[in-house]
Amino acid sequence: MKENRLCTADLHLHTNLSKCGDRNTYVASFIPYCEREGLSVIGISNHLYATDVDGINGRTYLQHILQGRDEINALGDCGVKVILGCEVEIFWGYEPGLRRQDEHNFDYALLAPSHFFNWMNIYGSMDLSSADKVRDLLLKQFERACLTPYDIPVGIAHPLYPICCPWEQEVVDGITDEQLSDCFSLAAERGRSIEIHACLYRNGTQLDEEGLSPSYLRVLAAARKCGCRFHFGSDAHLAPLSFVGAHERLERAAQRIGVTADHLWRPWEEK
Ligand SMILES: [Zn+2]
Ligand SMILES: [Zn+2]
Repeated sequence: MKENRLCTADLHLHTNLSKCGDRNTYVASFIPYCEREGLSVIGISNHLYATDVDGINGRTYLQHILQGRDEINALGDCGVKVILGCEVEIFWGYEPGLRRQDEHNFDYALLAPSHFFNWMNIYGSMDLSSADKVRDLLLKQFERACLTPYDIPVGIAHPLYPICCPWEQEVVDGITDEQLSDCFSLAAERGRSIEIHACLYRNGTQLDEEGLSPSYLRVLAAARKCGCRFHFGSDAHLAPLSFVGAHERLERAAQRIGVTADHLWRPWEEK
């Protein structure tokens, strides 16, 4: 087992139950790589886009991704604790992808308030023609992710990072210290875990010599200052690619923002 001191749980993983997931990736696909990645816990968080439309094969998204529970049960004692979550689409003015009456199906939920590509492709009428407009909506969406009530443990996926926006750098750098403080104080108050996510080392913003994004480290450092809890998410859609090697980088990011074991969110101990 690798000596990761902090990143021993990856709570943001997709399988073929997400449309964007690799069709040959199942829950079991991650298990052989967990030991080398230093992971003793993984969480499966397939997309829950909406409540009332067909997901795949005539099922709702909820019914569809709950098949992950059967996969987890079939693993038996595999040496890794596997929990079932979901990545919940939330958008201002729309019903969240997870209803209160359905939340008991999951061990935890990751709320996704910053899927820019869905803002463009699903919620057509928004004016997102500049970095400033995207940032305004990003902040509003983050607030909604903090305020949407649930009883199960809740984290926020890729917080304040506009996924697949053409101006990721400009949007992130333009968030003021005061806005960061307001956002993360609210997250801390509401007990919403902040994700140390793969966007730290993807190429959307400029990377430093350690292969990490100083712009996004600044965002997460603000969350640390506000007393937030944290979890790790590689957002891997394909095992082993985008899974193997991710956790060393997430670990390094956590160290750089001063996260210690005391700051970590452990939803599998909460429910
Ligand atoms: Zn996402
Ligand atoms: Zn995801």
